[in-house]
Amino acid sequence: MPPSWQVFNIKLIINLGVKQFTGPEVYRFRVGAFECRALRDGTFTYPNPAALLFANAPRERLREALRGHGVRLERWGEWVSPYTCLMINTGRHRVLVDTGRLLQNLQAEGISAEEIDTVVITHGHPDHIGGNIVKGRPAFPRAHFVMWEREWDFWTSEPSLKELKVEEHVKKILVTSAVNNLLPIRGQLQLLDHEGEIMPGIHAVVAPGHTPGHIALDVSSGGERMLAVADAAIHPLHLERPDWYSAVDLYPAQAIATRRRLLDRASAEEMLVAAFHFPFPGLGRIVQEEGSWRWQPISKP
Ligand SMILES: [Zn+2]
Repeated sequence: MPPSWQVFNIKLIINLGVKQFTGPEVYRFRVGAFECRALRDGTFTYPNPAALLFANAPRERLREALRGHGVRLERWGEWVSPYTCLMINTGRHRVLVDTGRLLQNLQAEGISAEEIDTVVITHGHPDHIGGNIVKGRPAFPRAHFVMWEREWDFWTSEPSLKELKVEEHVKKILVTSAVNNLLPIRGQLQLLDHEGEIMPGIHAVVAPGHTPGHIALDVSSGGERMLAVADAAIHPLHLERPDWYSAVDLYPAQAIATRRRLLDRASAEEMLVAAFHFPFPGLGRIVQEEGSWRWQPISKP
């Protein structure tokens, strides 16, 4: 059990968390023949980040580790996280990975909601599904919404979330958001129950722990590969200290095992990695060093 100071108080999130919309920011890149865009869907300011991100970290070790990132623990009052969704144009398909509040950003990019034929939902947390619905209807009327079956079943069957170390009203917010953003897409749903190809070049990778049916994506084209890890790592320090879990990891032991497996795969196979919450554009490589890993962000032109 984490010490009580680390129990994450989401009340602060509600009061202080500000989603800032500073206009769309887009980073274009390629994975082989696939044209990809990292779309920054605003940022969110989280208070009390040490308790949120590193729920089980011994304070002294956390202080030291953060120092390596230029952060002083005592002064670390807030953490600004971008929400970075991906759009992948495979030539045949236009795929969105997570939705946030994307519609406006897509329109700014000259992409209409009707053009999106596939929306992959990595998991049912509000920051990943918040753009599924507009005025009670699916925001992407022609899209299949792809998600892991267990994730759908979990959020749509009144989960108690008793394992989560957050306050009760926060759990209610998570469940309400899931119900509001998932049930209306029921008619467009494609549920996965085994790993494999969603479409040529895009594979679902089972990655549970953060949530029961959290998935990663393995994207490959023309000999190039990308692993979109979603929330298997939320902060770059999770690579150096893979055993430090976050307060919103539902099953911490499973989340840690998943994280290690994905980091191993990404570093061994030298994949480009996309991480939803890392500094924009959330793209980089993972370097293995002495039993742990290090984040190497891409150098932007
Ligand atoms: Zn997230």
